[in-house]
Amino acid sequence: MSILVFGHKNPDTDTICSAIAYAELKGKLGKDVKPVRLGEINEETKFALDYFKVEKPELVENVAGKKIILVDHNERTQTADGFEEAKVLELVDHHRISNFNVDEPLTVRMSPVGCTATIILNLFRENNLVPSKKTAGLMLSAIISDTLLFKSPTCTEHDIKAGKALGEIAGVDPQKYGLEMLKAGTALGGKSEAELINMDMKTFEIDGVKVGVAQVNTVNEAELLEKKEKLISEMNDIISKDGLKFFLFIITNILSNDSIGIVAGEGNGIIEKAFNVKVENSLVTLKGVVSRKKQVIPPLTKAIQSL
Ligand code: MN
Ligand code: MN
Repeated sequence: MSILVFGHKNPDTDTICSAIAYAELKGKLGKDVKPVRLGEINEETKFALDYFKVEKPELVENVAGKKIILVDHNERTQTADGFEEAKVLELVDHHRISNFNVDEPLTVRMSPVGCTATIILNLFRENNLVPSKKTAGLMLSAIISDTLLFKSPTCTEHDIKAGKALGEIAGVDPQKYGLEMLKAGTALGGKSEAELINMDMKTFEIDGVKVGVAQVNTVNEAELLEKKEKLISEMNDIISKDGLKFFLFIITNILSNDSIGIVAGEGNGIIEKAFNVKVENSLVTLKGVVSRKKQVIPPLTKAIQSL
């Protein structure tokens, strides 16, 4: 039985491409590892997979009884159903560690870099191996996605160097390809409000308080703000279904690198404290904020902890 490698629910480009890349590395090391996904891929990831002619990984609903490797996440609320009944062999990630409990020792590789694919490139190198041309292209896509084309504050020197090396292996110009890929990810036209919110939604547990934070990239925030009332009603549904205190939906402009947040639930006080801005008509301006991991979750955590 193959070992399964996967990233988080509501997969993004890093989650999908790092699972594929890590499976390739393990294969080269003689292990039977298969990349899988926990949900539908987004438009940006589809663009990357199509561009480098790679099939999307198979969908898996439940991992009970399987041997598994986690990439690009570790929080219980973001991983697969059946996690408690699976055997976790490895973890490769670049997020905070939270609510991650397993029964047995495991191999863990974590670094505070901008993207899981950057860590995986290092793991290739440590084994004197090089990713295939296609896989290098996917790993580059993951770095571009997670660092918003090397502009997010999460981006490190390691990510920039890895992106350059991967671009050379893949035979693409990171800037030119990257902008095309990010723009493909902003094609939101036909999406319903529920789809928009679920595209990149994560729930977090902070000091016993559960919150939801979703993010979407755009070049035209007006078309999303037109749907504000319907988005809020979807967010309220998720709040009651998942027992959340509040929900923050972040609309990030990939050209200006600023965001606007839509707030639902009991979040105004916490959000105003976290970002030192007023919530007005359920909206909040988040100037210069592009990274949920580095610019949203840490201030929310501080604000919740000081309640
Ligand atoms: Mn991710
Ligand atoms: Mn990532």
